[in-house]
Amino acid sequence: MAAGTASRPLIVGNWKLNKTIPQAVRFAMDLAKAFEGRADADIVLGPPYTALKSVKEVLKGSAIALSAQNLFWENEGPYTGEVSAPMLVDAGCSYAILGHSERRRHFGETDEQVHRKIKAAVAHNLIPILCVGETLKEREAAETRTVVQTQVERALLQLPRGTVEKAVIAYEPVWAIGTKKNASPAQAGEVHRFIRRLIHERSGIAENGIRILYGGSVSPDNAKALLAEPMIDGLLVGSASLESESFIKIIHLACEGHQARRSGQA
Ligand code: PEP
Repeated sequence: MAAGTASRPLIVGNWKLNKTIPQAVRFAMDLAKAFEGRADADIVLGPPYTALKSVKEVLKGSAIALSAQNLFWENEGPYTGEVSAPMLVDAGCSYAILGHSERRRHFGETDEQVHRKIKAAVAHNLIPILCVGETLKEREAAETRTVVQTQVERALLQLPRGTVEKAVIAYEPVWAIGTKKNASPAQAGEVHRFIRRLIHERSGIAENGIRILYGGSVSPDNAKALLAEPMIDGLLVGSASLESESFIKIIHLACEGHQARRSGQA
């Protein structure tokens, strides 16, 4: 893995609370068809729980992986409405998006809970995608670094070395999510650099030893510039992952960028 240089970009679609099973299956068919050959990007789709199994069926034989949008840390028991890591593995997931700002805001999720979820994910070989990011108020108060540092320290850096690097981090400034106001590549790059240094200083992991994605109003219009920022390893895409056309376009841009970087290095 390397910060936006040699490694393949990772593009993750987060569908949130959207799509019925037939809609999800149709989308997955479009995506599988578009990338039935080799793609120069790692592609991950995050449907709602109800569509996981059906989407997995469509993606069988393709290199496109499946992500959950959440999980609960216990494996089983009296936890009405929850879904556990082994259940998600059973449904075909290999990733889990954890600590998304919408879960923090609407469901009161804390860093400590996110930490327990990451532990459960890793214990079951699910790759956690830890979402971190500051609100507009926090950015304006120059608190971005403190906020992101606290989230990364409490949720991830409590884990033993050897486990931390199994996670993917998504830097998603809250003010950029669903607002059509993406962070500039420079703004995102600065926070990514800060997170890489923090992880290196606290755990000894090389600065390019962990994948860090950017998320927040990514679209086909800004994906190329964001992916050209060397600190950014990939994208977490919300709204623009709901239409197959725009999601496929973003993945093509990621593949082209990767090919260009590789030929530049040759
Ligand atoms: C997200 O929810 O993770 C996200 C980045 O959403 P959007 O792309 O719609 O801003």
